[in-house]
Amino acid sequence: MHPAARAPRAQILVVEDEARLRALLRLYLERAGYEVREAEDGRAALDSFDDAPADLLVVDLMLPRLQGEALIRAIREDSQVPILITSAKRSDVERIAGLRLGADDYLPKPFNVHELVERVNAILRRTGIGGGMSNGPGLSNGPGRRTTAGPGAGVDGTARLSFAGGRLVFEPPTRAYTCAGASGRLTPSEARLLLALVRAAGSPLDREQLLRAVAGPHAETSRNVDVHVGNLRHKLGDDPASPWAIETIPDVGYRWLPASDPVKA
Ligand code: CA
Repeated sequence: MHPAARAPRAQILVVEDEARLRALLRLYLERAGYEVREAEDGRAALDSFDDAPADLLVVDLMLPRLQGEALIRAIREDSQVPILITSAKRSDVERIAGLRLGADDYLPKPFNVHELVERVNAILRRTGIGGGMSNGPGLSNGPGRRTTAGPGAGVDGTARLSFAGGRLVFEPPTRAYTCAGASGRLTPSEARLLLALVRAAGSPLDREQLLRAVAGPHAETSRNVDVHVGNLRHKLGDDPASPWAIETIPDVGYRWLPASDPVKA
C-alpha cells in the first residue's frame, strides 16, 4: 500500500481590490497547498469564473466596478461554488445579508490570514471538494470495507474514481464525469451528494443527512435534496425503477448501491 497520488490542487479565486492584501492571501493560500487566481474587481472576478470555474471564492464585498453582493448574486444564478466573504462591513445585519446571498461563511475585516486559511480548509472539507492540505488517505485499500466514513476520510482527495467497472468515472477535484459515453461536470451540490452517498458505504442516508452534505450549515439556502438526487440520477443515466447507482429507501432516503462502490482509476 503506497500513499495515494497527490490530487490536483483545489483552485481558489481571490476577489480583493487591495493589492497588498490580495498578495498576502495568495501567499498564504499557496503555502497551504492551493492554486490561487486573483481578481481585483467584481467584473474581472465574474469573467474569470465564467472562463474557468474555481473550487472556492474568497470575496470582498466593497469592490470597484461590480460590488461583491452583485457578484455573488450573479454567480449563484448557476453555481453553488463555496463562497467565503471577507468584509469590513461587520454588523450582524450585513453579515446575515451576506449569508442570505448564499455565501458559505463570513469573515469580518481585519482578519488573521491564518484564520482565513483555516476557514477555507473547513469549507472545502465540508463540501467534499478536497485539495490543499486536507486530502484524505484516498482509496488505497480498494473497494473493500471502509469503516472511517467521516468527513475528510476516503474519497474526497482522490483524483479519479471508477464506479461499477468503469460505467461511471468521476474526478472529485474537477467534478468532471464520464458515464456510459456521456461526459460533463457535476454541480458542486451534485458532487457533494455523490460523495456523501459513496462515503456511507452502502448505508442509507436520510434526507436530513443529505441536505447537510449538500448545503453545509446554511441549509436554508439549499434546494430540495430530491431535486439534486433527480438531477444526479439523470446525469448518471440511473433509472429509479431499476437503479445501478442510487437506491431509494422508502421513508428514509437514499443509498449508494455497494455493487457500484468506487475504485481508484
Ligand atoms: Ca474592498
